[in-house]
Amino acid sequence: MRKLDMPAEDAGQVFRMCIGGVRNAALRRRLASVEANIVADANAFRYAASTAMLHTMLPEEDIAGIVSKSEMSDVYTQRMAKKGSSGRPIYDKLLAAPAHGRCPLCGQRTVSTLDHHLPKAHYPTLAVVPINLIPTCADCNRAKTDAIAQTREEQTLHPYFDNIENDSWLEADVIEDVPASLRFCVSPPVDWDESKAARVRHHFKVFKLAALYASHAAEELAGMRYRLKKLFDEADAEAVVEHLWEEAESRAAINVNSWQTAMYRALASSNWYCNGGFRLA
Ligand SMILES: [Zn+2]
Repeated sequence: MRKLDMPAEDAGQVFRMCIGGVRNAALRRRLASVEANIVADANAFRYAASTAMLHTMLPEEDIAGIVSKSEMSDVYTQRMAKKGSSGRPIYDKLLAAPAHGRCPLCGQRTVSTLDHHLPKAHYPTLAVVPINLIPTCADCNRAKTDAIAQTREEQTLHPYFDNIENDSWLEADVIEDVPASLRFCVSPPVDWDESKAARVRHHFKVFKLAALYASHAAEELAGMRYRLKKLFDEADAEAVVEHLWEEAESRAAINVNSWQTAMYRALASSNWYCNGGFRLA
């Protein structure tokens, strides 16, 4: 999971921008009348997200009995997500935030959409609130569904609020098989409390990151076989170990929790792999 900078856009201003293009005057007036509700819920969201308490926010059927869920859903799809709409510049800005266009939830696939962290199907006031909109890949967006967390531990991580980048928490084990493969898991640092560890494990599970990383690692293992054989045959197992540690350090300098960092660390630490396990195919 990668951290993203918090969007600076003001919730009220973004909402006004989105509804500016609504031609039906009566609908526009009704929408404008709930701006204060939207701003209040955006502030409540900010506080709850920064204290990992989003599961305590109650779902709503409509906004103050004035604007329906489907009307707010239309504000998002017609006035923000739609190309050429008045709110689209905000949508594009949020979408473009991640480095190299990588999805912050999986850290692997390409960003293609915005995900409502608290789903608009249950939280109409948050439908166009920037801090509730996360740029994600299509798979992560689908995996999250409209489920609502019931406990602190069931909340997936929020890239604007949760930062676990400075701790090393992703680990891989070498499976001594033909061919060699890797198993990825969350290995929480000792100073994390149980609730934080459970949340990260939940995130890992919801987005099926173990399978995603294992599949990419399998391809990488096949690709490095020739190189390792050459190193081993021209020198020895020590040369293989040294090469793998260098790769691990190089990857860790960019991201200590990438599957590549975890993979190279695991491979370099495996006597079985460095002494010929890499040859088996
Ligand atoms: Zn993703």
